[in-house]
Order: sequence, then C-alpha cells, then structure tokens
Amino acid sequence: MYPFSCTKAADTRAAIAAGQQGGRYLAGGTTLVDLMRETVERPGTLVDIGALPLRDITSTANGGLRIGALVRMADAAADPKVRNTYPVVAQALELSASAQLRNMATIGRSGGGRGPAVGTQRVQGRAAQAHG
Ligand SMILES: Cc1cc2nc3c(=O)[nH]c(=O)nc-3n(C[C@H](O)[C@H](O)[C@H](O)COP(=O)(O)OP(=O)(O)OC[C@H]3O[C@@H](n4cnc5c(N)ncnc54)[C@H](O)[C@@H]3O)c2cc1C
Repeated sequence: MYPFSCTKAADTRAAIAAGQQGGRYLAGGTTLVDLMRETVERPGTLVDIGALPLRDITSTANGGLRIGALVRMADAAADPKVRNTYPVVAQALELSASAQLRNMATIGRSGGGRGPAVGTQRVQGRAAQAHG
C-alpha cells in the first residue's frame, strides 16, 4: 500500500465537490480496494460515500424503477419491485460475481467492469433508471 487520505462525504453536494477536486469515490470497495492493494489504482484521496442516502429503490411515474447508486447488488436482486417489474435484471444480478461481492458491491458502479466509473455525477443520486 501507499499513503492516501480518506474523507467521508456528508452529503451528495460535498461528494460531488470532492470528486471534482480529484477524490475517488469509495462505495462497497470491492473493486477499488482490490486494485489499490495491487497498486493498479493509486488515488491520492478517497471519498467515502457509503453514508449517503442513496439506497432506495422507487417506482417512477411512467412505470419504471429508480435504483439508488448505493443499493447493493444483492439488495436490488431481492427487491420485490425489481423482481416483479424486471425479473431479468434480478436474475442477472443473482448470477453476477459471488455472494460475498453481491453483498458489498453497489449498483452505482456495477455493470461497468472493474475500472473507474465514468464521471462524478453518478454519485448524485440515481445510478440506474429503468423504464417500463
Ligand atoms: C471477483 C470479481 C467479480 C466481479 N464480477 C462482476 C460481475 O459478474 N458483474 C458485474 O457487473 N461486476 C462484477 N464485478 C465488478 C463489480 O460490479 C464491482 O466490483 C462493484 O459493482 C463495484 O461496486 P463497489 O460499490 O464495490 O465499488 P467500489 O470498489 O467502491 O468503486 C469502484 C469504482 O467505481 C467508482 N464509484 C463507485 N460508486 C460510484 C458512484 N456512485 N458514482 C461514481 N463513481 C462511483 C469508484 O470511485 C471506483 O473507481 C466483479 C468484481 C470482482 C472483484
């Protein structure tokens, strides 16, 4: 490992500001910590976004679902709204990675492989929005 600093984002506005200043978001850590351990990734500042209120799955007016960026893969797969409205999404999540990873990994980063997410705006709230 190497020296780095870590801050905890108090709200989404602070998280976005920190990201714009070069901070790297830490959600479930399943990818980032692993890559840091191998020194593939060497961020100078981590911004812990784990406490942000982004864990809701809500129905949208047009019959879709809005999934918060910090919803864990396992929680999304088990959610009745996801299972009923988009069973293929639930099934895909259940087949992803391993049970340990699904219990930690968040939707905000999921689906894009193991590199950094594109842009800082995803932290803002809703990572995935599916429309029926
Ligand atoms: C062994 C293994 C198997 C895997 N298999 C699969 C698989 O089958 N399918 C699949 O989809 N993925 C798979 N992954 C990748 C997995 O989806 C990601 O590891 C996980 O979703 C990352 O979520 P996290 O919360 O742990 O992200 P972290 O490790 O905390 O962050 C990963 C990256 O995303 C950025 N990030 C995190 N949250 C946000 C946010 N809200 N906004 C902006 N940027 C953000 C971080 O800054 C970092 O660059 C696998 C990973 C491993 C290690």
